[in-house]
Amino acid sequence: MADTKHTKVLIIGSGPAGYTAGVYASRAMLEPILVQGIEPGGQLTTTTEVENYPGFTEVQGPDLMVKMQEHAAAMGCEIIGDIITNLDMSERPFKATGDSGTIYTADAVILATGARAKWLGLESEEKFKGFGVSACATCDGFFYRGQEIVVIGGGNTAVEEALFLTNFASKVTLIHRRDELRAEKILQDRLMKNEKIEPLWFHTLEEVVGDDNPLGVTGVKVRNVKTDEVSEIPCAGVFVAIGHSPANELVKDTLEMHNGGYVQVKPGSTETSVPGVFAAGDLTDHVYRQAVTSAGMGCMAALDAERFLAGQD
Ligand code: FAD
Ligand code: NAP
Repeated sequence: MADTKHTKVLIIGSGPAGYTAGVYASRAMLEPILVQGIEPGGQLTTTTEVENYPGFTEVQGPDLMVKMQEHAAAMGCEIIGDIITNLDMSERPFKATGDSGTIYTADAVILATGARAKWLGLESEEKFKGFGVSACATCDGFFYRGQEIVVIGGGNTAVEEALFLTNFASKVTLIHRRDELRAEKILQDRLMKNEKIEPLWFHTLEEVVGDDNPLGVTGVKVRNVKTDEVSEIPCAGVFVAIGHSPANELVKDTLEMHNGGYVQVKPGSTETSVPGVFAAGDLTDHVYRQAVTSAGMGCMAALDAERFLAGQD
């Protein structure tokens, strides 16, 4: 028979939102269970320096997330390495099924499943994923020592990845579809000053080209969006950094959404369209999408869950 665990508050996700909810729910004596998912620590584990989390002038993303996990555990949060594959919110207690086979029943649920990297959707991108095409410079940058690389995108992630990749690559071409970056000014300044980086404005990725045996990238075809002209840039690696989409698979058919898949919450709170289910972090926020705002929403969700449960008593 499947193992069943009951909790007053089930927290799904182990990014800044999930762990902060874990700290607050534990201190409210709600004895929460937190299920970590496929990426323990969340998106910050895929980056290096974080320079804008209050209290840390500079901290490595993975280190910050280990500290958050330790903090939640020290407060009494039970942290479990499992992935929720189904969430039944049709009756209370809510029922979540873990990939491990464990069934989690809960009086309240905090959704903190965050976001995942977006891909361009090209056939050639799919073909070379893991063989020269990546969405994580921290994970894969090391493989491109002394080689040429391209990065696609113009936001904070693209610029940070381009800067980070100069530690390994001989040259990084930042390919952006406009001539204006979305990234913070401080990052733009660093990019422009870095001699290893060459921005290529008004271009999009048309095709990743490479060898079949062994599978590997040798270059990219790019299109000039003004002239439609296609040209080829030799490179060994392609880093796609065009943003993230909310990880809403568990609730996309059951909760109200906004802005193409972000979980809708009542303004000024973390209440979703199902009473007793709360959402925090990048899963609900299409505007700020920062570690500190996610942590703030995790705190709100735990306080909202506490009030909800007190109301049930
Ligand atoms: P996430 O960090 O996305 O975590 C989601 C969690 O949910 C993961 O643990 C995952 O395993 C879990 N999960 C998902 N599905 C399930 C499931 N079915 N079952 C169980 N668990 C599940 N922000 C800053 O403020 N400063 C920075 O310097 C910064 N740098 C960044 C660099 C990069 C490369 C990226 C990608 C983002 C960066 N951000 C930065 C943004 C920041 O990482 C996010 O805003 C923040 O991590 C969002 O936190 P979150 O808790 O909402 O979700
Ligand atoms: P983002 O801000 O949404 O930027 C995505 C970039 O990719 C944009 O420049 C966009 O171009 C481009 N793009 C999107 N779709 C494209 C397509 N199909 N083809 C070509 N280009 C495409 O995403 P992000 O950079 O991943 O950042 C996500 C969030 O995390 C942001 O809130 C960001 O502030 C945060 N973050 C923060 C830090 C930090 O604080 N240091 C670091 C990383 C991320 P346009 O500009 O033309 O739209």
